[in-house]
Amino acid sequence: MEPLLPCVASSHLVDHHCHGVLRDDVDRDGFESMLTEASSVSPLGTSLFDSSLGLAVRRWCAPLLDLPVLAPADDYLARRRSLGAAEVNRVFVLASGITTFLVDGGLTPEQLVEPSVFTGSSEHSVLRLERLAEEVVTEGAGGFPGRVRAALESSPAVAAKSVAAYRVGLALDPERPSDASVVAAVDRWLSSGSSRCADEVVSRFLVWEALERGLPVQFHVGYGDADLSLRDCDPLLLTDLLRATAPLGVPVMLLHNYPFHRNAGYLAQVFPHVFADVGLAMHAVAHQSSRVLAEALEIVPFGKFLFSTDAYGLAELYYLGALFFRRALSDFLSAGLRRHAFGMADAERIAHLIGWQNAHRVYRLD
Ligand SMILES: [Zn+2]
Repeated sequence: MEPLLPCVASSHLVDHHCHGVLRDDVDRDGFESMLTEASSVSPLGTSLFDSSLGLAVRRWCAPLLDLPVLAPADDYLARRRSLGAAEVNRVFVLASGITTFLVDGGLTPEQLVEPSVFTGSSEHSVLRLERLAEEVVTEGAGGFPGRVRAALESSPAVAAKSVAAYRVGLALDPERPSDASVVAAVDRWLSSGSSRCADEVVSRFLVWEALERGLPVQFHVGYGDADLSLRDCDPLLLTDLLRATAPLGVPVMLLHNYPFHRNAGYLAQVFPHVFADVGLAMHAVAHQSSRVLAEALEIVPFGKFLFSTDAYGLAELYYLGALFFRRALSDFLSAGLRRHAFGMADAERIAHLIGWQNAHRVYRLD
């Protein structure tokens, strides 16, 4: 394997979308199901260790726990348990080399710890919009729009995150909803008896309100767990809303995107406020990350692409996400250098833009 380009190996990394790591140890089933987006391990399909990601854990993570390369899965899990969750978290989060984390704490916060606890890296919070709505709705439909606005005004978060993909799909109407239509939608929601925010009008309202307040909005796009319908998660479904929100000039971040990463690259090219990443896919496709990142970068301007891991629960995913991202970015830039598509100064600039500078600019982290 070619060594990493020095500009990639030494670059800061801002992980602009990730979650916390598990506070406690997990058993084999728990580990396997957190490895992918599977809800549980099926005896019909043998083991999730027999996947690109499972092999990557044995190949790249085992040596960090003082095991031989490609140690068997049972040895790996036994070693992991004997070290304990805190030590395992420390080893892998530190080895990721990530310098700043933007953490979406909206998913199972009671089981997780922030990654920065293990490294002293800086950390910023991202506000999950549907969770905010679910908290605010308990006080009734009447003042709902005003309460959402007040909460957004006082939030210390550097960005908001929408999981509309999971709740209503991405085919959101572009029009900004009136307060009266939001109150009517919340009335319907409350009378359904569900505590879950899954209304298209409410999702759209939350996005508009966050953008109006200058808060960048991250959308979950593409690949996710069995809760979503992947065909409703193509970022092209957001086209009308992206066109309508462009005049606000506030960033919209398309997260993950796989397997629609080429569509996301197109949207980031044509809309000035749209940005993309391939977080989650880097560790999921593992040794094939160079191919997927090269596809994602085909047409996207390099000032419109960011690094993220989307690591959730297992600290290994921070390490592998950063490892495969660096490998893929180095391969992409090396291939361009070999073909004389650009020179080293350009390669260095691109590495820093994608690794951290775009995130600093877009989220105003300085
Ligand atoms: Zn995520």
